[in-house]
Amino acid sequence: MATTQYNPADVEAIVREVLLKHLPGAAVKPNPLVVNISARHVHLSQEHVEMLFGKGAMLEVHKTLYQDGYFASKQTVMVVGPRKRMLSDVRVLGPCRPSQVELAFTDAISLGIDVPVRISGDHHDTPGCVLVGPKGVVELKAGVIRAMRHVHMGHADLEHYGVKNGDAMHLRIESFGCTTVLENLVVRADPKVKLEVHIDTDEGNAVNLDAATKVELIKPKECGCHKHSGNNNGQLTTNMSVVSRQLGVI
Ligand SMILES: [Zn+2]
Ligand SMILES: [Zn+2]
Repeated sequence: MATTQYNPADVEAIVREVLLKHLPGAAVKPNPLVVNISARHVHLSQEHVEMLFGKGAMLEVHKTLYQDGYFASKQTVMVVGPRKRMLSDVRVLGPCRPSQVELAFTDAISLGIDVPVRISGDHHDTPGCVLVGPKGVVELKAGVIRAMRHVHMGHADLEHYGVKNGDAMHLRIESFGCTTVLENLVVRADPKVKLEVHIDTDEGNAVNLDAATKVELIKPKECGCHKHSGNNNGQLTTNMSVVSRQLGVI
C-alpha cells in the first residue's frame, strides 16, 4: 500500500501559514511569550544547604518551575536583616548554586536592607544578611540583591527579536488602568532556556499582571547619534533624587 511521505519542514510551513491566516497581523513568534513573577527567594550552595538543614541534606522538589530542571524546593529559610527584622518562610530554589537572596524593594524595605539592582550572580558591592534554617545559621557577607528584570532567550528568540545577550529591551504590559512599559529588561541568552520574562512582585503587582490582556517585547529603537553608548542616566538620577528629597520635605 502506498503511503504519502510528509516532510516535517513542509508541515511546519503549512501550519505557520494557517496560523497566520487565522491571526491577521500577528508576527510569527518562534515561542510564546511567558511573563512570570519571581517572588522573593533564596539560592543556596550545597555547603549552605547542609549548614542550614543538616549534614547530608539535599534540596527536595516542591514544585517544578517553567524552565526545565529548576524547582521550588520544600525547604524555606528565615532571612534576617541588620536590625533583627526578618522575613520568614522564604523559599529556596533549586538546584544548588552560589548562595544569593533575591528580594523585591518592598521586601528589602521591611528587612531594613538597602538593596541594589543586580543581574543575578553579580554580587559586587552588595549587602549580606543572616539565613536561619532548622539546623543552623549562615551569615552571607554579600549576595542580597533585587534581581534586574530580565528575559531568558534561546537562539530562535534572539534571532526573532534581533537582540543579543546583555541587550536591554522594553516589556509592554497592557492591563486595565495600569498599562506600563518596563524598560531595562536585560536579555539573558542560553541555548537551553525557554522564552520567559522574570519580573518581581513589586513590578507584577504594579501592572496587575494576573489581569493583563497583552504582553509584548519591544526592541528599543537606536537613535544613531552614538552619544548614548554609555550610561547616560547620571543627570536623570540627580534630578530624581532632588524630587524625592523635595517630596520628603513636604
Ligand atoms: Zn533566582
Ligand atoms: Zn530568570
